[in-house]
Amino acid sequence: MLQEIMLKAYKAYDDYIENGTFKSWLLRIASNYLNNYYSRNSVECLSLDYEDEEFNSLYGYLSSEELSPEEKLIHDELISNVMLQISKLPKKQRQMITYRYFYDMSIEEISTKMNIPKGTVKSTTYYAIETLRKHFNVDLKGEKDMECKEIYKYLFIYANGTIQPDHKKLVEEHIKTCPKCNDIVVALQKLIPTMVFALEDEMTYFCVSFPELQLAYTGIRYEVENFEQCKKAIEEWKGHIPDEENNMSSGFTKNCQLIARFDNEGNEIKMKIYQETETHYRAKPIFYKKIFKYMWNYDVYENKVASSDIRKSKEAPNLYYGSYNNNLGANAKSALYQAIPKEAENIRIKRGNGVIDCDTYKFAYVVRYVTEEENIRLEFSFLLDK
Ligand SMILES: [Zn+2]
Repeated sequence: MLQEIMLKAYKAYDDYIENGTFKSWLLRIASNYLNNYYSRNSVECLSLDYEDEEFNSLYGYLSSEELSPEEKLIHDELISNVMLQISKLPKKQRQMITYRYFYDMSIEEISTKMNIPKGTVKSTTYYAIETLRKHFNVDLKGEKDMECKEIYKYLFIYANGTIQPDHKKLVEEHIKTCPKCNDIVVALQKLIPTMVFALEDEMTYFCVSFPELQLAYTGIRYEVENFEQCKKAIEEWKGHIPDEENNMSSGFTKNCQLIARFDNEGNEIKMKIYQETETHYRAKPIFYKKIFKYMWNYDVYENKVASSDIRKSKEAPNLYYGSYNNNLGANAKSALYQAIPKEAENIRIKRGNGVIDCDTYKFAYVVRYVTEEENIRLEFSFLLDK
């Protein structure tokens, strides 16, 4: 193009009248040429180095890892393939990516143009980029994901307002720049007020599961037997539970891993985890800051194996199904909430109560009283709007 412009300038040099600077004359020729070029050819421009405070550049997203020369070769091919993959995104995602990165529109402008809330534009664009990254096998376990894993344990107690101030600051700083974690928070903040718990002197149990993130928040509230005695003992021990005290331990299977436990006021209950049998683990509290008559244990689990998951149907495109169950081993009001994609449509629940729409996620759920032997099960299927 530079060659073309210089040639044009050379040919037009006889018409050049010395009444302005030579530079502005040349720039006018260049600008006319480029305008013509872009109106003739509808060139798709991918802003590879465009950056702002909302997102890094698309290039940055796709190349956030340090690349070796070999990797760089493969990487360049990937970039040239981006266009093709964008065309395969769901309609809304494709539109947003086009507006955002081809037309350089701001989140706000896209929000107005598409009549979609700003937060949704932000997260939809984010998911589209994540999809592209996954497609191109760009390593997702980058620094950001490490940071997310650190923050996961606080998100439920942040959303329900029991978090301690220093942890609250951590969460708020992270979700400012992480739409994925912000989505979890937004969804939980909408979900929690709709959750139904048992009466105070009854046992209540819930599990909020995010299968795609292999993350589950559970809560159990129970009455502490011999509360006054327990309280006195814990005060004497200054919160440190002696090894021989075993009656406050709880179990979980090898399919998941307890990450953290918090009490009614968001204090972390320090736990010691040990293997009990080949398939079961026990978690024993070793430090309590405080003990309550009606004690909450808010647990955060990482699911090692998808104990609950959403599977894609082999027979029908866009049909997904999943199930989830628990047997608590105690009489309780039990509730399961399973996060499913917000785009999911035509949700059918076999053994459950309904669906709670929480903007960034939908939650299929079941709530009921169960006896010690009973198993509670939630089954659902849905069609994804593509
Ligand atoms: Zn995050």
